[in-house]
Amino acid sequence: MSLQKIKDAIANQKMICPECKKPIQKWEKYAETIDAVRDGFNIIEIDSNASRVTLTCGNAPCAWKERSEYWIEYIID
Ligand SMILES: [Zn+2]
Repeated sequence: MSLQKIKDAIANQKMICPECKKPIQKWEKYAETIDAVRDGFNIIEIDSNASRVTLTCGNAPCAWKERSEYWIEYIID
């Protein structure tokens, strides 16, 4: 699950700010994104498995903040 992945990455300091390269401190406004596909008269909802979150670096003086679907790119192993 994506939200758990984000929480774990931040708790373990494995989500890195692209500007200052320090661990991102904060996340907020997590949302799953769902793609709706129209099929004839029916609307079929498909869980695209994407999710969006607002990330805030939080390491002063860095002011990096981003709302992104591509948060997974900031996680390091
Ligand atoms: Zn930063």
